[in-house]
Amino acid sequence: MKYAILTHGGAASPHAHSDGCVKAAESARSVLERGGDALEAALAATVILEDDPRFNAGTGSNLRFDGRTIEMDASVMTSDARFGAVSCIQRVKNPILVAAKVMETPHLLLVGDGATQFARAHRFPDYDPLTEKAQGKHARAMAELRGQGDGDYAADAAPWLTIDWKSLWNFGEAPFQDTVGAVVRDSQGRFAATASTGGTVYMLKGRVGDSPLMGCGVYAGPAGAVAATGVGEEIVRRFLSKTVYDWLEEGIPAARAAQRGIAKFPEIVDVGLLVASRDGQAIASNRNMASALLVG
Ligand code: ASP
Repeated sequence: MKYAILTHGGAASPHAHSDGCVKAAESARSVLERGGDALEAALAATVILEDDPRFNAGTGSNLRFDGRTIEMDASVMTSDARFGAVSCIQRVKNPILVAAKVMETPHLLLVGDGATQFARAHRFPDYDPLTEKAQGKHARAMAELRGQGDGDYAADAAPWLTIDWKSLWNFGEAPFQDTVGAVVRDSQGRFAATASTGGTVYMLKGRVGDSPLMGCGVYAGPAGAVAATGVGEEIVRRFLSKTVYDWLEEGIPAARAAQRGIAKFPEIVDVGLLVASRDGQAIASNRNMASALLVG
């Protein structure tokens, strides 16, 4: 069987950043070439993407409303039904590697302080994923809420402008002030899918999107693997990754399943998919999306 490696830098990430996705895919390929399996390869690719500060995952993750807090989500799933995830984890360099550690426990998902302490217990050192770019993005997003934005975040801001969002503040005393993923099929027909994110533009503390939820941000089984990116709440509502996976299981080709998945969303909602089946693979998105595909 041919292997396939698919990587993305998040729905709406610029095509110009696809070199980062290519580098990630190449690192997955070297893992496969030295006998590693789909899981090891997908993790290797995701670490490269998390370490690339241009992407909203790991280093470069989005700030939450308070402009100080970064909480990250990540998950990994394999075709033999192993799954591990972390949500709202803070101050680690590679959330995906912590998610992989959760996969070795009887649990599926650890959140918040529990996830961060679990990481420390496994010797993941304290790390600040904040970048200047994330600070600039936060400042522009907050300007949008004050009616002084440049319009780039108008669609994301719209639901927050209809409510008294300051009354929802859950950051204690603090003053106001693009996701990545990989899908791998190895030459023995094993699959793995990952998702890792700093979340969306506007987030309260504790907000959880699709990325750490099985069947939403990722799904894998004997028929293939799927990773999603985009507006998490909308992806969860459509149980997107499992829905697309079920189509693969019914024999629908990867490219058609991916397009059908994207078609479930209105144009205003950003969404992207990586899909690999036993005999095909596809990348689809309704926005620009940095991505890479290697088949061999
Ligand atoms: N799906 C992620 C979330 O909602 C964001 C993204 O994919 O860009 O947390």
